Amino acid sequence: MKKIIIIGGGISGLAVLHYIKKRYQETVEVTLIEKNSDVGGTIASFESQGSIFETGPNGFLTNQPNTLEFIKDLGFLDQLIEANEDSKRRYIQMNGKLHLLPMDPVNFFKTPLLSATEKIRLIQGLFKKNISKDQSVYDYTAERFGPAVASRLVDPFLTGIYAGDIKRLHMGAAFPKMGTPKGQPKAKMCSFVNGMGSLIGQLALKYKSSIQIGVEVKDLAELKADTIICATPAYVAAELFGMPILQDIYYSPVAVVGMLIKKDSFKRLPDGFGYLIPSGEGKEVLGVLIESNVYTRQTSKDQIFLRVMMGGAHHPGIASYTKEQLQVLALKEIDEIYGLKEDSSSISVKLWTKGIPQYELDYPAIRQAITEELKKKQNLFLCANYLDGISFNDCIKNAKELVDSL
Ligand SMILES: Cc1cc2nc3c(=O)[nH]c(=O)nc-3n(C[C@H](O)[C@H](O)[C@H](O)COP(=O)(O)OP(=O)(O)OC[C@H]3O[C@@H](n4cnc5c(N)ncnc54)[C@H](O)[C@@H]3O)c2cc1C
Repeated sequence: MKKIIIIGGGISGLAVLHYIKKRYQETVEVTLIEKNSDVGGTIASFESQGSIFETGPNGFLTNQPNTLEFIKDLGFLDQLIEANEDSKRRYIQMNGKLHLLPMDPVNFFKTPLLSATEKIRLIQGLFKKNISKDQSVYDYTAERFGPAVASRLVDPFLTGIYAGDIKRLHMGAAFPKMGTPKGQPKAKMCSFVNGMGSLIGQLALKYKSSIQIGVEVKDLAELKADTIICATPAYVAAELFGMPILQDIYYSPVAVVGMLIKKDSFKRLPDGFGYLIPSGEGKEVLGVLIESNVYTRQTSKDQIFLRVMMGGAHHPGIASYTKEQLQVLALKEIDEIYGLKEDSSSISVKLWTKGIPQYELDYPAIRQAITEELKKKQNLFLCANYLDGISFNDCIKNAKELVDSL
């Protein structure tokens, strides 16, 4: 019987395990080896006084049929919850104040985020075609829609996905579908009743006998397998597969601070999904997500649960902050924007020193070199968020494509 080993039990490795089990059933022997005491990687959900603190993603979009099929395969569709309609209201911080992100023509014409000239430039950009995507996200969007749109709207949007630097991210690599004529199906944001981590729990339960936890792979020679699939971060795969090129992928640090605060404690009650902060504001805080407005699953109606995201490519120093420093920074931000009458919050903190891989300007060349090097390595494969998409949806789609190609 053929033996396959998967190294790394984040969503990429777990999805590979699922698709191997689904496709080959009992004809191959597959084992997933995970270094930590739990699988899930960046995805984990902790209950904190009736609220769910997500250490990583708090949801995904439903425009990727693979993901829904994957959830269905796991018998988990009944656990799916949609984000509330109200959470469509998102804000951008400008000069220390929140402004509604315009989602309809009336609000678009009213918004102070752009001047009249900048709005006209944006509209003209919608009709501009054939702009090269072989440049930074900033250069692409500034050329197409004007510099104001790039720095005030696209920059915070990028922060929300990559915690990245818009001037360093490569347009074609970060947004491969942008500007293509094919429209995407309308997407809704979803999670699970008990958080994203509950799906990981379901995978861990289903494939318990094929998962080894608490084992760090240090050398491929330790492993006896016909095929090895490495689903660790790039800098780990670099050592294991002897591929120094993988060290060239930069990971931005991200800190997540979850806060449970009594509604009475706010001077202004947080509204909608929350807000993002353009890098030009010069803040270490990237944005604030009002989790309890996004999903209805909180036990207590007199509290707000929110997550403050910090760090990113513009603030690498965050990686060395203490838990206390991160808490102070988060509280200061919430106080500045919503006003806190008292410090009554209960706080959870997670710091990812190497949080999100960045698809920077040299990414197309790095990606090409990875493909070439892998051709020389028999029966060794890579599958993780630093290849072909960082989202939860991308990880599942890429895992399926890899298993289909084996
Ligand atoms: C704060 C944050 C918020 C995010 N928000 C969203 C969001 O809202 N929506 C979205 O779609 N995406 C989001 N993402 C991105 C998404 O969560 C990740 O890209 C995805 O979960 C990565 O999965 P992965 O399996 O590729 O890698 P990882 O989750 O990094 O998993 C790699 C695994 O390999 C293991 N490992 C490492 N070395 C070894 C070794 N030597 N031996 C054995 N095991 C090893 C690690 O312990 C880990 O479990 C977010 C990410 C972060 C950090």
